Amino acid sequence: MSGTARTPPEHAIVVGCGPVGMVLALALRRCGMRVTLLERESEPIEDQRAAAIQPSSLEMLHALGIVDEIRERGLISPTFHYRDRVSGELVAEFDFSVLADMTEFPFVIQYEQFKLVETIIRKIADDADVRLRFSCEVTGLDQDADSVTAVFRNEDEKEERLRADWLVGCDGYGSVVRRAAGIEFVGFTYPERFVKIGSDFDFLAAGQALCIRNFFSDPEEWCNLFKVNGYGPPGIWRTVFPTRLDETPEDCLSERSIQGRLQKFFPKTGDYNIIYAGIYDVHQRVAETFRKGRILLAGDAAHVNNPIGGLGMNGGIHDAIGLAKALGSVSEGASDALLDSYSRQRHKAQMDGVQATSMANKKLMEARDPAVRRRQLDDVRRTAEDPARHRAYCLNAGMYTSLEQASTVA
Ligand SMILES: Cc1cc2nc3c(=O)[nH]c(=O)nc-3n(C[C@H](O)[C@H](O)[C@H](O)COP(=O)(O)OP(=O)(O)OC[C@H]3O[C@@H](n4cnc5c(N)ncnc54)[C@H](O)[C@@H]3O)c2cc1C
Repeated sequence: MSGTARTPPEHAIVVGCGPVGMVLALALRRCGMRVTLLERESEPIEDQRAAAIQPSSLEMLHALGIVDEIRERGLISPTFHYRDRVSGELVAEFDFSVLADMTEFPFVIQYEQFKLVETIIRKIADDADVRLRFSCEVTGLDQDADSVTAVFRNEDEKEERLRADWLVGCDGYGSVVRRAAGIEFVGFTYPERFVKIGSDFDFLAAGQALCIRNFFSDPEEWCNLFKVNGYGPPGIWRTVFPTRLDETPEDCLSERSIQGRLQKFFPKTGDYNIIYAGIYDVHQRVAETFRKGRILLAGDAAHVNNPIGGLGMNGGIHDAIGLAKALGSVSEGASDALLDSYSRQRHKAQMDGVQATSMANKKLMEARDPAVRRRQLDDVRRTAEDPARHRAYCLNAGMYTSLEQASTVA
């Protein structure tokens, strides 16, 4: 592959129309490329996983012209709390407002990932140069020096082949693209799973001194509690707990177990009204490379982490923006070495930023040794109290630090 100019616009296939595939498609269109999105499902799914969009990602989505809708439909959350679930004490409050001198978005917006997908689908609906094809499951790939071909089962359940200049796997944890390209997914899977429960019980109205995003440390059973708008107001409170190793997924999702977990967390008269519940395997894994020839990876296809801190999808949004910029330049004649830089930079952002932070967040939630637990909670308290450390903490939580780490790599 050389840096010789091709006849624009170049064509990219994006596999997967989750939040990362959709952000990438929109960003590639802004760079003037033609895009075909191939999605296995017959329609966008109502995926209740991610909701927290971090300040750095909001800046990127603003540049794509979609933040107004996110702001209007989402929940703005400048602060987040660390609490000790054992004592009930508020250990630390962090406030993204300390970043108001550097960003127009000194807050997280809670906006469910399926809504982000819907927002972008509306945005690209009338664009003749982006084709969104549902019920198309990619099963294999071929590439040579000049092109890459996706092999997929199409809308008519027939095998079809589509040729393009580039192909990006945004097809999630189990990525067929990553496997077909022979790229190793390095890391580990935790023995426990996480269970997420959505309820319309209003914890704030019940007199809890909470904010929209709350992290409860507990050596027995930590809990994260967040509010999202759902189809509200009044909205939905989501709790996330670790499962015990002796519980099966069926046990965890039984009505008895769900009610038991919530009643133990916050006892109340009568059952909780459950809107949804889901159970998730939890991993820390990063692809050894995000590029093989004309095949690239972004989002969960390239990296996964435990969701404490709300970093996974945001890392994927950062990938999408970086990759669109690189592919846009290459399609205008720049050297394709830019795509190797994309791979190295985003790998660095994952390893030193997202993976390290998410693992530290989990340790803070679950520490069992009383001395370690006390030390960690004291440290987070002192960090919140010291203005310089408070700011640095917010820069890391808002994922500016991982962008800076990436920028140190050529
Ligand atoms: C409980 C929980 C809470 C979370 N909360 C947050 C949070 O608050 N903030 C945050 O940043 N992250 C969070 N995450 C992580 C976040 O959900 C993921 O990082 C995000 O969904 C990744 O988006 P993606 O588009 O890369 O992949 P996915 O959302 O997995 O989308 C992949 C898409 O590819 C499609 N696909 C798969 N295989 C094929 C194929 N062969 N052919 C065609 N299409 C295919 C799928 O159908 C799907 O539509 C959370 C995760 C969990 C488990």
